[in-house]
Amino acid sequence: MLIRVIGFACTALLFAAWPVHADVLIKNVTLYDGTGAAAVPGANVLVKGNTIAAISTHAIDAGGAQVIDGSGKYLIPGLMDVHIHVRGGQGGSVMQGGQRVPTADFEAGLRALQGYLYLGVTSVYDSGNNPDFIFKLRANERAGEIVSPRIFAAGGTISVPGGYGAGLTALKIANWEQGKKDLIAKIEREKPDMLKLILDRQGLYANRAVPTMSEDIFHKVVQTADEMGVRTTVHVSMEWDADMAARSGVSAMAHPVLRAVVNDSYIKELADRKIPIATTMTVFSNIARVADDPSFFDNPLFKATLSEEEREKGKTSERQRYITSGMSGMFQLMIPYAKQNIKRLFDGGVILALGTDRTDGPTAHQELELLNQSGIGPFDCIKIATLNGAIYLGREKDLGSVETGKLADLVLLTADPADSVANFAAIDTVIKDGVVIDRGALDVPANRM
Ligand SMILES: [Zn+2]
Repeated sequence: MLIRVIGFACTALLFAAWPVHADVLIKNVTLYDGTGAAAVPGANVLVKGNTIAAISTHAIDAGGAQVIDGSGKYLIPGLMDVHIHVRGGQGGSVMQGGQRVPTADFEAGLRALQGYLYLGVTSVYDSGNNPDFIFKLRANERAGEIVSPRIFAAGGTISVPGGYGAGLTALKIANWEQGKKDLIAKIEREKPDMLKLILDRQGLYANRAVPTMSEDIFHKVVQTADEMGVRTTVHVSMEWDADMAARSGVSAMAHPVLRAVVNDSYIKELADRKIPIATTMTVFSNIARVADDPSFFDNPLFKATLSEEEREKGKTSERQRYITSGMSGMFQLMIPYAKQNIKRLFDGGVILALGTDRTDGPTAHQELELLNQSGIGPFDCIKIATLNGAIYLGREKDLGSVETGKLADLVLLTADPADSVANFAAIDTVIKDGVVIDRGALDVPANRM
């Protein structure tokens, strides 16, 4: 086993100290449990193994547990980003022996994952990636072989030939006879946590129209996945497509509709069906912003977790690509509608879950900022960034809140998150699966400064 670990995580990544389970008692902390309940001052939270064993405002006997003094501090559930694409794989490809193959840079992926953990994100849902890459990382994470947030993953996305997102590793369904066989084989082989379907006709500004899945096939994919016990999420950008997906029984939305003001009927439909939405304003906001002002790559959270080279790339070649492709200009037009829609979805009772559609930890904090700018208060952002993420993944029974019996994914903050969303980054301690993460040993630039 050890040989396998070393063989895989060959270089610098091994300096992240190996986690050791010890029981932990967090004493006298102000607790936000993530359910939307008010703050509980003077709370004691006992973690035994990987589980939250007891919560009380009365003294709890520490027994042999490690005691963390929570005085003047704030405890929230670990943050969840339910729309990411782990760096190092994504939709990229490289030429290898005269053949185009999907990229799988495990070192880049592990560094990115440790950046999430460093910034308090204890669960991520990768909503489309090279299956060989992401499911290997997921297996390593679940076996405790790498220090990483919990990884939930879709693997390759599901589209149609020539459609949006129909990259190298996508399942491209041309007809249902073959598509059904391929889908069942994919689910049996990869055991995705949640499938990602693409429903996007494009045809707006710089993006020419492309074919998309028919309602009939979309419905059959969702139904087949459901019968096999697998949740589904869908990439949509227009209300009529999102509406069709909702009526077809999709479990969750990978994006809100952001390109136009949404109708009340649509908001009501999502609220009634309890279909959660990954908020994903950051992807659009960053691509819009970077054209005029790429300086956010120099903010402290980016500096702490992204290498100089990665930040430089964001400010130069990636920026240029977003400008040239017309994406920056297009997304600049969308942002006001995005913010307006997010607030209206929130007010209409739709379950919003924090998602960024990005590849790095700092963006989860940017998403909180955008939610706040949309008119959602910092207190309400706690639930959006935690329990609602678990609901999105269908994992609310064991994740997403600080409740007895749930898995111990926790973040201890030195400033009150209900006062300001910036305080979600005032991180003192991160606990994942009952293990106190040695943040000083994670492979992030902050630890090399
Ligand atoms: Zn995405």
